[in-house]
Order: sequence, then structure tokens, then C-alpha cells
Amino acid sequence: MVDLSIVVPCFNESEVIDSFHRAVLDALRPTRLSFEVCYVDDGSGDGTVERLRALARTDPRVRYTSFSRNFGKEAALLAGMRMAGGGAVVLMDADLQHPPELVPRMVELHRQGFDQVIARRDRSGEGAVRKAFSRAYYRLVRRFMEVEVADGAGDFRLLSRRAVDALLCLPESNRFSKGLFSWIGFDTVSFPYENVERAAGSSKWGGRRLLNYGIDGLLSFNSRPLRLAIHTGLWLFVSALLYALWIVGNALVSGVDTPGYATLITAIVGLAGVQLATLGVIGEYVGRIYHEVKGRPHYVVRETERGDAAPAGAVAAGGRAAQHAGRPS
Ligand code: UDP
Ligand code: MG
Repeated sequence: MVDLSIVVPCFNESEVIDSFHRAVLDALRPTRLSFEVCYVDDGSGDGTVERLRALARTDPRVRYTSFSRNFGKEAALLAGMRMAGGGAVVLMDADLQHPPELVPRMVELHRQGFDQVIARRDRSGEGAVRKAFSRAYYRLVRRFMEVEVADGAGDFRLLSRRAVDALLCLPESNRFSKGLFSWIGFDTVSFPYENVERAAGSSKWGGRRLLNYGIDGLLSFNSRPLRLAIHTGLWLFVSALLYALWIVGNALVSGVDTPGYATLITAIVGLAGVQLATLGVIGEYVGRIYHEVKGRPHYVVRETERGDAAPAGAVAAGGRAAQHAGRPS
């Protein structure tokens, strides 16, 4: 077993892969650790997989898995962790925003007995708007989520073998890894580093994608939005009741009055809005249930460093697809 596996999800990173690989080798050479680098090509269309093939030919420590299409970073991380055989696993981005120089320090902390070592980036060099949004989001998440998620603590971290094994036991297909990391627990330590701009290429996280990621995060780790819907409904009911009492009382005291058209419309529109929003919240959860129930594998493999992939189910699904194996077709 190697000491260390480095897991690298890559989506259209052909421009940086080579310099990334060199940086990793440079950073790890002084440590004398035995290691492997597990690249996951997340269905890139820019020749990333050719670069990986070339690397694997020249360096036996390079392993890779290539997906049949883009399945997202979470799926890529999962594939990488399944591939990794090391005693510790470091997850890092291919764009050199996660400085490889920090890896020896992470290994050092791991030796001191920590199961998760997180390199936490500060937010220097980020736009003011994005900074403000991220701050607000993390404040919200801390209030609502059942697990602890720290600002700047992303996917750049070292996980011990048992932490990785724990993560691989979580079968859900909506994977919000920030939440999963914190859900598994274990002794965790973090240290800050200065944020770096990506080396080349462009970020795949536009505003919309980030917003959806944020919603995913909130929904996949708690059912409090549903509780909120119940509370809102109850309060509305109580206020409607009070209002009705007031109307009746008013009619008794000062005679019958034609109730206002405006009040009626306001009440209808307001209530309809609340109902629609609540339905939306419920729908989100039902959608998630539907998604989970289908039990599809998280990704489909096109090829690995050992050649073309075996039939999709056997490689990609850690057992769940096998449940369908006996079904008549
Ligand atoms: N990535 C991926 N699949 C995706 C999007 C991104 O594997 O669908 C990888 C990407 O190649 C990079 C890492 O995830 O190694 C982080 O992506 P990016 O740099 O675009 O995100 P940012 O650093 O802006 O958060
Ligand atoms: Mg990046």
C-alpha cells in the first residue's frame, strides 16, 4: 500500500495538468513518501484524457479514470476516492489553486493523529460581491444545517484511510461533500492559506451554478425547510382566525359592512404564494427521493489506466447497481 494517494478531479484542465503534475512531484520529492496520483477526467472535451494517458505512460504512479460525460465534481471526487489505495488521501483541484507545497504539512499533521486535515483558504483576491454572498451563505448554513461547515474549508483536505472508508459507505447520490466530510466526524484540524488565482483555463462555477450548489447543500443536509413551511402555515392560520373574529365582532358592534375587495385579493394572492412556495419545498424533497430511489450509479466510466472500462455497472457502482442485475429485461 502506498503512503499517500492524491485525488484530482479534472474537467477541461488540459492546459494545467502537466504543470500541476510537476508541482506535485516537486512538493512530494523531499518527503520520501510513496504515493500515487489518481486523476479523474470528468468528461472533458479538451483533450484532458490524452494528457492523462501520456502521463500514465511515462509515470507508473499516475492512475486515471475517465468518465463517459461530465458528472460533476462530487462524482469525480467519489471515483477518485474509490480508486485511491493509499494510507491517506489528499483531495485537490487540478488548477493549482490548492498549492501542492501544503501537502507535506498536511501529512505531518496526519502523523500527529488527525484523521482530517483541512487547508482553509482565505478570500483574498475574490470579488467583493462574491465574498459578501459567500459570507452570508455560510452564516445561513451554520444556522440551519445539522452539520458544521466552515467558510473557506473546501475540498482541499487530507483524509485518513478510515475517514475515506467512512465516506465511501455513504451511498446517497445527491452528494454534498462539504456536509459529508463533516458528517463522518473524526479528529479534524485546519490551517489557513492564502487564496491563489487559478493557473490557466476558467472556473466552472458561474453565479447560477454556485446558487444551485448552495441550495443543494441546504436541502441535502436537513429537513428544516419543511418545518419552516409548517410554521408559516400555522401562523397564517392563526392570523386568519383572528382576522375572522375581528370581522365578526365588528359586524356585531357596528352592523354589517361590505368587506373590502382589496383585502380579499391580498389574502388570496398572499396565501397562494405561500402555498406555491411550500409545494416547491416539498417538491424538492420528493425530487430528491425520486433521484435516490432510482439508485443509479454516480458515474459511468469510459476508460482507466488499465484500458477500457468493464461494463458500466460493475465499475461505477459500489454495489447498488448490482441489485438490479437479476432483473429480467
Ligand atoms: N471540476 C470537475 N467537474 C466539474 C467541475 C469542476 O471535476 O464539473 C474540477 C475542476 O477540474 C477543478 C475542480 O473541480 O479541478 C474545481 O473546479 P474550478 O476550479 O472550476 O472551481 P473553483 O476553483 O472556481 O471553485
Ligand atoms: Mg479552481
